[in-house]
Amino acid sequence: MDFQTLYDFIYSLTKLYDEAKDRNTLVEGFKQALSLFFPIEETKIYLMDEYSFLLKDFTKPWENLSQNSENEEIKKHFDNFLIQKSQFVKEKNILYFPIVQKHKTLGLIKLKSREEIKEKNEFFKVFPLVSAQISMFITTLKNSEQIKISTNFHQTLRNIAQITQTQYELDYILPIMGEMIDGFIQEHLIYIFIKNKNKKEYKLIWPNKCSDNKIYDYLEEITPKSQTILKQDGKMGILPLIVDGKPYGAIVAYNHFDKINQKEIEYLEEIKSQATATLTRAKSYIEVLEHATLDALTGYNNRHQFEKRLKEMTSSAKRQNQPLCCIMSDIDFFKKVNDTYGHAVGDCVLKSVAKTIKRELRESDIASRYGGEEFVFLLPQTNLEEATLVAQRLRASVEKKKINIEEYNIKDVKEISVTVSIGVSEYKNEKDYETLYKKADSALYEAKEGGRNRVIIA
Ligand code: GH3
Ligand code: MG
Ligand code: MG
Repeated sequence: MDFQTLYDFIYSLTKLYDEAKDRNTLVEGFKQALSLFFPIEETKIYLMDEYSFLLKDFTKPWENLSQNSENEEIKKHFDNFLIQKSQFVKEKNILYFPIVQKHKTLGLIKLKSREEIKEKNEFFKVFPLVSAQISMFITTLKNSEQIKISTNFHQTLRNIAQITQTQYELDYILPIMGEMIDGFIQEHLIYIFIKNKNKKEYKLIWPNKCSDNKIYDYLEEITPKSQTILKQDGKMGILPLIVDGKPYGAIVAYNHFDKINQKEIEYLEEIKSQATATLTRAKSYIEVLEHATLDALTGYNNRHQFEKRLKEMTSSAKRQNQPLCCIMSDIDFFKKVNDTYGHAVGDCVLKSVAKTIKRELRESDIASRYGGEEFVFLLPQTNLEEATLVAQRLRASVEKKKINIEEYNIKDVKEISVTVSIGVSEYKNEKDYETLYKKADSALYEAKEGGRNRVIIA
């Protein structure tokens, strides 16, 4: 073999080591390097999965090899490499050779040439080098993948811990947890269930659909002492969330193809304990909050208190024959703020909007946080005309406000602004006092439909 070919080959392998960022580019680069020796039509790498002990396509680790003669052939060669430790098998234009590391056969490579591969091909001179190099590349890539997964995992845990420091609304926390776990464990379907307080049955919290009805039967098996339950030949893992010694819900992970492996169970169990800690805290927080009247984030009245005040104020308006109006506001595209800058910034925006609006109100006006980013205001002794002016002023002041987010260290962004959509309604002595805010709510809906950042009167 001439020096130049050898040089080119080693050079392309070395470059490959530096540049291959994922499994596909590694296989593609390997194919290119080998093209120096023969016209390669196809390069395939198969590795034995250390958990399921099944041979898998290196570029599709989530899939099992389908049953066909070609794959049977591959499995047969792999088994032979395991026993005989032979160097390679050549069949006309196809070459198989094992991937070996520290005397252990990890998998095999299948090369398909467009022409017959001759015994005297130069390739066979460098073959041991190729075999050793590619084995090393694969192991390195797998290790770095593992590190990336661990990093993502810890990031996920950190994110969960972070939101749960300021949040106590489970309706808000649980879907976020589901989304985070899902982003991290991609090869599985993740479900979160919570036990319905009164009916004692499990309710799907995340995502919004679960087509496997058997899960509900499995969930019934959860007892206060349950550890992780494996079902469906180990393809489904049920991780009970036990809060205060009682089954509270479960995280369910399901993999269509494979058993859930030990490593994945370890990760899920750690997420589960984080979730359980959060739920325990949220629960005791809720118990405290049942007696509280204010929302911790905004300082507004909480929803419970709002409902009390609504009842009081409608009945006193009726009695005194005084006008009463309701303004309902909702931040526009707030989800995008969270998604772009993180939930901590989302919380900061919520606080700031609450403060900005509060400044525009009178002492006697009642401000409440109705839900996530939805505020509701009760304006006693105010008619519809006046309330509309107030609403327009609120909308404008929120739009104008520059919210400083420097402390969150987001690259190139020091301040952001948001807008709100608003619905206004007036109390017309309706029998059902809740009608007042329901009217404002539908006006708000219209304001959203109409393009947001506007005021609509019911
Ligand atoms: P629209 O203009 O239609 O109102 O769009 P939107 O994105 O504001 O509406 P959507 O209701 O889809 O999203 C509201 C988001 O608000 C969903 C939830 O993640 C977020 N959210 C609710 N409560 C809180 C909270 O306390 N803190 C933070 N950071 N986000 C919250
Ligand atoms: Mg919104
Ligand atoms: Mg909303």
